[in-house]
Amino acid sequence: MEEVRIKLPPGTILIKKAACPKGCSLINPDKILSGKPAISALVRVRGVSGLIHFNPYYGIFEYECEIDLRAGDIVGVYCPRCGVSLTTQEQCGICRVPMFAIHLPDGGEVRACPTVGCHNHQLTIVDLDAQFAEYYNEERRPKM
Ligand SMILES: [Zn+2]
Ligand SMILES: [Zn+2]
Repeated sequence: MEEVRIKLPPGTILIKKAACPKGCSLINPDKILSGKPAISALVRVRGVSGLIHFNPYYGIFEYECEIDLRAGDIVGVYCPRCGVSLTTQEQCGICRVPMFAIHLPDGGEVRACPTVGCHNHQLTIVDLDAQFAEYYNEERRPKM
């Protein structure tokens, strides 16, 4: 399948569906960030684990975490439901540590670096039409 890479201004795509590799939803209706359900995962660092909640707008690096994260920490990221690791084979080009991935519908994904403070991340959307159609309908429709 052809892969299209595009650059988007921060916050232009709302991630509404996200899952672990086994299919558990990572969208957390109990945690709202920017008015939308957050993407929640389990992180582990220095022997402590807790939930992390990411802002569901792609490109916005806002998060809340139950445990104390320090710049330079490399966190393990897991599914909060089944516990599967979200870590991939691909390394961050900056930190040289394996990145983690959040699965999106139709084979898309968000990959991000698990180093606290590193903003290396990428979005792959396979079904671009569907994602953007939804975005334009709901967020950008001009008010007449
Ligand atoms: Zn899971
Ligand atoms: Zn990195």
